[in-house]
Amino acid sequence: MLMKHDLVIAGAGYAGLVLALKCLSGGMKVALVDIKAEEDLGHDWSDSIEREVLQNTDIGISEDELTAKPKGLHILSPLHSKEFFIDYAFEIVDMKLLHKKLLKKVKKSGGELHFKANAVRPFLDSSGRCKGLMFNENNETRELKADFVADCTGIKGAIKSLMPKESGFKVELSPADTSKAYREVRRWDGRNKENGVEILPGWLSYHYGVNGGYSWVHPETDDRIDVGAGIQLGKDYPDPEYTVPERCNSLNLGEKLRGGGGIIPVSSSYPVLYSHGVIVVGDSAFQAIPTSGCGAGNAMRAALIAGDALLRSRLNPDERGSLYERNYFIQKGADLAYYDVLRRRMQSFAPETLDWLMKKGILGSKELYASIHGLYQSTPAFSALLKMAYGITRIDVLLKLKRALVVGEKLREHLENIPYRAKSGETWLQQYFDLLSETYHFG
Ligand SMILES: Cc1cc2nc3c(=O)[nH]c(=O)nc-3n(C[C@H](O)[C@H](O)[C@H](O)COP(=O)(O)OP(=O)(O)OC[C@H]3O[C@@H](n4cnc5c(N)ncnc54)[C@H](O)[C@@H]3O)c2cc1C
Repeated sequence: MLMKHDLVIAGAGYAGLVLALKCLSGGMKVALVDIKAEEDLGHDWSDSIEREVLQNTDIGISEDELTAKPKGLHILSPLHSKEFFIDYAFEIVDMKLLHKKLLKKVKKSGGELHFKANAVRPFLDSSGRCKGLMFNENNETRELKADFVADCTGIKGAIKSLMPKESGFKVELSPADTSKAYREVRRWDGRNKENGVEILPGWLSYHYGVNGGYSWVHPETDDRIDVGAGIQLGKDYPDPEYTVPERCNSLNLGEKLRGGGGIIPVSSSYPVLYSHGVIVVGDSAFQAIPTSGCGAGNAMRAALIAGDALLRSRLNPDERGSLYERNYFIQKGADLAYYDVLRRRMQSFAPETLDWLMKKGILGSKELYASIHGLYQSTPAFSALLKMAYGITRIDVLLKLKRALVVGEKLREHLENIPYRAKSGETWLQQYFDLLSETYHFG
């Protein structure tokens, strides 16, 4: 007879692998199921990942996985009237190599792997509780029973979308709460001028506030350059899959070495991360940093938080799932909700307004550093700047920004006090919706 698993994970991406590793290290029986073939897994490019996440022993980082070591972040305002040079607390990591390493560790730790699975779906008991995963493999139907199923399928949220409505998972995102990103790594001959603007060797240059996102160019070495862009969807901004190659051509760059693109959820997490035996982690739980679109690092951080909670064997499964939900919001999710409110406000401003805010130092180095890294800094710093700027001009913009900061603070505080087993807190959830509804008027 087949033994029941403690955890079955749908999706062997960054969230799925780190969750598997954490749970395997605590002695759980874990299986991973992915629709792709093993060799197709992992992104064929390098991402910016939080240094402190990589320092976790379950993940780790080696020199050969670092593709570049930027001197820092160079940020240009939308109309180029102001530039900033700030520290960069991310590492640039080869995501293919990182994925390979994590997968190897999962295999070594005894994780059970199923690739090229199709029709992956939860199976439910009569109360709608998930009892495991079903899928087709080599034309046969497989069924893996488990105490927990994790949806780590990325933005598809393939498992939560098949759960009954009563589970309370949020499935759909409006296009404006998603971003499309695309990048190409090209050969480069060291020429460093584009439309009169210098490209700084070794610096990761962001052109901020373009098309509801930003574009970047990063000369990684003397002969290799990374060019990309992320835009807000739902606004008819030009597709980066076209604009990035155009930019590469205008820079006279050489052959494409690697690259690719996809959709990133930039809304903050909805406060149901566990329900009916299912946990959601990573992009499927909307856990990217809203103000920079960096989701891989936080997907791995959330997986560690989830693993920690699932290993609490003295708690029953519902208590463990709820503990993950609560710990995620306390440790990171509440801060990212604050940045989600700011993101919505910033995306509602015209490029000229953002440029003005940056020129005036209202959106200065400190604020840019904090928002790109998703590190909460308290509103008083902003408020002091706002006070200074009052009386200058553009009070309307400042008031709008101030209102967003107030709502962001309130939402953050509300999420920090998420009740253990949030779904039982109907009043709490209603207050969450009321706070969020203020941001719908941001335009
Ligand atoms: C161009 C680009 C640049 C980016 N740059 C950065 C960056 O610099 N820093 C950063 O932190 N983030 C970046 N991101 C975002 C980052 O890639 C994602 O946030 C991250 O991959 C999320 O990890 P995940 O494990 O949740 O999902 P994924 O990496 O998407 O993994 C999901 C896995 O689930 C599998 N799957 C899908 N459907 C099913 C199913 N039905 N059943 C079973 N398995 C399924 C998939 O095959 C995949 O293996 C970038 C994204 C793009 C597109």
